[in-house]
Amino acid sequence: MSMNYRSVAIDGPAGAGKSTLARKLAEKLGFLYVDTGAIYRTVALAVLRAGLDPSDEAGTGGLLGGLDLKMAYGGDGVQRMYLAGEDVSAAIREHQISGVASKVSAIPAVRAFLLDYQRRLAREGSVVMDGRDIGTVVLPDADVKIFLTAAPEARARRRLLELEQRGRSADYETVLQDIRDRDYSDEHRPIAPLKRAEDAALLDTTSLNLEQSLEALLSMVKEKIT
Ligand code: C5P
Repeated sequence: MSMNYRSVAIDGPAGAGKSTLARKLAEKLGFLYVDTGAIYRTVALAVLRAGLDPSDEAGTGGLLGGLDLKMAYGGDGVQRMYLAGEDVSAAIREHQISGVASKVSAIPAVRAFLLDYQRRLAREGSVVMDGRDIGTVVLPDADVKIFLTAAPEARARRRLLELEQRGRSADYETVLQDIRDRDYSDEHRPIAPLKRAEDAALLDTTSLNLEQSLEALLSMVKEKIT
């Protein structure tokens, strides 16, 4: 990791508000925001498009060598993902991609491949990086580590709202079950499972709105980075 650049690692389960908060925090700090979930989602899309089964470790491993994956920032500063030159930023948000990403992310070859990729990104500038294993594995020397969480029910309600805002309908029980399933597989995979780094500060957003959460985050960061 470069001595000149700062890094903030934000980990936590799906729906805790990580992406929105990490993006806003990066804006405030003038850092780049790296959504690592989007990178896993792009690999998941590539696996689906290749007609592979996401639990096919050998097939997925074989795909990585020829994977043309790129992350870039648009003129609006928003992170975009490209697969073989195609902008797939919207396609990776499809609901079915979440589960596939969770399966693909348990494959050791995928994690090894993306580990380098993510570390390179953090060498290019100061970053706020969010994911599941940023403080534990990707950037163990991050200047600030935060574990962001919320009760599964609160996360399900937020995810539902998000889906509705995008014109999708879904029912609460299904979304809640999806969240519980993803938590389980993210927490129980043998490599880089979702867990709080020992030196990560905990922020539970169950009863906080976005503004309050951002304020709390900012004060946690300012304690460490002046
Ligand atoms: O954060 P998001 O829900 O977009 O991530 C999609 C999936 O990618 C997660 O369920 C998780 O399995 C995987 N992931 C991961 N490590 C990261 C980021 C995401 O395993 N650093």
